[in-house]
Amino acid sequence: MRDRLIELERSARLLEPSSEMRREARAQVIAYTEDFLDNIQAAKAYVANAGKGEGLLDSPISEEGIGVEAAIDMIRANIDTPGLNPASGGHLGYIPGGGIYYSALADYMVDVSNRYAGVFYASPGAVRMENMLIRWLCDLVGYPAEASGNLTTSGSLANMIAIVAARDGRDIKSTNIPRSVIYLSEQTHHSIDKAIRVAGLGECIVRYIRLDDKFRMIPAELAESMDSDKAAGLNPFLVVASAGTTDVGAIDPLTEIGEIARSKDLWYHVDAAYGGSFILTEEGKAKLKGLEAADSLIIDPHKGLFLPYGLGVVLVKNVRDLQRSYGFDAHYMQDAFAAPDELSPAELSPELTKHFRGLRLWLPLKLHGLAPFRACLEEKLLLARYFHREVQKLGFESDLEPELSVVTYRYVTSGPEQDEFNRQLLTEVINDGRVFISSTMLNGKFTLRFACLSFRTHLATVDTLLAVLREAVERLEKH
Ligand SMILES: *Cc1c(COP(=O)(O)O)cnc(C)c1O
Repeated sequence: MRDRLIELERSARLLEPSSEMRREARAQVIAYTEDFLDNIQAAKAYVANAGKGEGLLDSPISEEGIGVEAAIDMIRANIDTPGLNPASGGHLGYIPGGGIYYSALADYMVDVSNRYAGVFYASPGAVRMENMLIRWLCDLVGYPAEASGNLTTSGSLANMIAIVAARDGRDIKSTNIPRSVIYLSEQTHHSIDKAIRVAGLGECIVRYIRLDDKFRMIPAELAESMDSDKAAGLNPFLVVASAGTTDVGAIDPLTEIGEIARSKDLWYHVDAAYGGSFILTEEGKAKLKGLEAADSLIIDPHKGLFLPYGLGVVLVKNVRDLQRSYGFDAHYMQDAFAAPDELSPAELSPELTKHFRGLRLWLPLKLHGLAPFRACLEEKLLLARYFHREVQKLGFESDLEPELSVVTYRYVTSGPEQDEFNRQLLTEVINDGRVFISSTMLNGKFTLRFACLSFRTHLATVDTLLAVLREAVERLEKH
């Protein structure tokens, strides 16, 4: 047996590279990431026709390892080259992501130490840091002392955590699901619809409240709808508002909806995944007034705080609402919950063993300070207004004043094929690749979207988009 153990150990120990090997691997990884960052300005925002990562399939997982260099080559060719480059400042479609560097260093440190951030007893420092970040966000939105929350991997999961809390908070069970009513709008993000289904609420009645000409929920329609549902013996229990819709950046009338929800005892959830971070700017703070009325809300730091993908936040006005849905009892963990100074993520979320994702938010906030974040967000709001003004000079119509950093626009043609022309325009811009944009349907019309949220997007980027659009229009009109 001892011989076998010694033999196994020899092979198992390969999992712990020597300091020399670590230095070697690290140098190559650093060289690769430095190369990536040094070229990010010139790199295309979208690369068509570079394969679809099929090269990975030529190298299946096998018994023997490969060298770091070979691995990096495979990543560069198959993952970093084809498709959308989400780290590019030229990413002006969907909702752009971030990728600030100090978060990457934080993840590196966290992964090396493998801190366990699920339970205070095991890692008081890590849990305290996450709770402190949640508290900071609660203060920003104006939540009371009994508020709490959870750092999740994304906005979709944050929404899911909140919808489940709403379900349990309003005692929605199998007996009353078919007569319980949820109020959304056509602008509500589809992750809410998914959360509703996953939470077992797919058989609830869903009402889509009519929108005004700026794509905001009309509060009077909401109140009316709730009243008539109540009168019909139904059970209205949840309303979801958006603070910055993905489509156009619209902010629903947060305060009015909050008042209606409170007067009728509905759970009020606000999806501020995209818009929430703008609360750091003066303009955003004014526009997001009423956020504090929500029973629960979500914000995506991997959008508006420019973090690399992997961080969403759910905040709940009263921590009891998270404890009701996510509290647990386990004999094998009796020591861990004996005398807690701080609540643990494990009691407030679906996760137990959990990546210490707080550090990827804390480190950049501490190293940079808040000022550059505020400036970057204010810059995005102003760039949207700049684009809105300039694109109209090129013959585009853009009726909607940008509320946040999304602008919708479409080229006005003389002929009837306006949708087709704009569709071709989109393809031209994407094939050019210097910048990336996306589209949507607004009032049945094919519409182009400018979404400005990357920390690498600046004035020159927007000028490039304007130039690309002008050139593409000229090319298409020649045909
Ligand atoms: C992006 C977004 C979501 C989903 O967040 P993920 O982090 O992509 O899961 C939800 N709501 C809105 C308004 C969003 O913009």
